[in-house]
Amino acid sequence: MRSEPTETATIPQAPVRTQPATCEKHGPYDQRVVVILDKELRGGCPECHRIANEEREQREKAQEALTKRLAISRKLGDSLIPKRFADRSLANYQVQNKGQAEALRFCRHYVKTFDQIAENGRCMVLLGKPGTGKTHLGAGMANDLMRNTSHSAVYRTVGSILQAIRATYDRASEATEASILASLIEPSLLVLDEVGVSKEQPSDFELTTLFAIINGRYEQVKPTVVISNLGPEQLPVAMGERCVDRLREGGMIVVPFEWESHRGKEGV
Ligand SMILES: [Zn+2]
Repeated sequence: MRSEPTETATIPQAPVRTQPATCEKHGPYDQRVVVILDKELRGGCPECHRIANEEREQREKAQEALTKRLAISRKLGDSLIPKRFADRSLANYQVQNKGQAEALRFCRHYVKTFDQIAENGRCMVLLGKPGTGKTHLGAGMANDLMRNTSHSAVYRTVGSILQAIRATYDRASEATEASILASLIEPSLLVLDEVGVSKEQPSDFELTTLFAIINGRYEQVKPTVVISNLGPEQLPVAMGERCVDRLREGGMIVVPFEWESHRGKEGV
């Protein structure tokens, strides 16, 4: 019959008062003084306290992100971004023409608005001629995200993924196909390079693997950046129509790298 809540109010409170105090950094504040067992406990500056809390939270966040990255990289068996591309960033991308400036602008915007991109799982494809810096921009986006945000990003070529999965068929392998796929689905961003590089009809194994990755990320609303030397009309052949459908969901951003052909056309 008796209700509980009021009883807690009967616990005696330690007497609290405030007195004026001054922080060296933040100036005057109301200092809380609590008397416990005849001892005066004086509170610190609330601004100092707030800053210390904020710093602790940031450290915890960074630690959390690092732990997550390490877990993913353990699964992959090496770093998230291959050593060769570790120094690529959007800042050190050499712009030599209008097309490159435009492509860089798209990539910068993608990284800058990545919180939103991640929420919608909005994908991006960098398509066009070889040797136009697509890989630099793709690896650069992944590097910039890793350096400047708490997001995780992985850069991989299709070839290296297929090879890693084939290697799991070896009995001595610690990794499994499932663990490799999971490590490609888990990161906030996956940059998938050299799609359709073989020029031949892709094998069933290749198509199944690509769909498992792209669809796995789609189901978790995670964005993927796809890089290919193919044109937009050839992409469904190289990846499978279903894959491209998944990429298109949420409004795929297409960045064409076609300035070389532009230059060629001008001469005609
Ligand atoms: Zn202070």
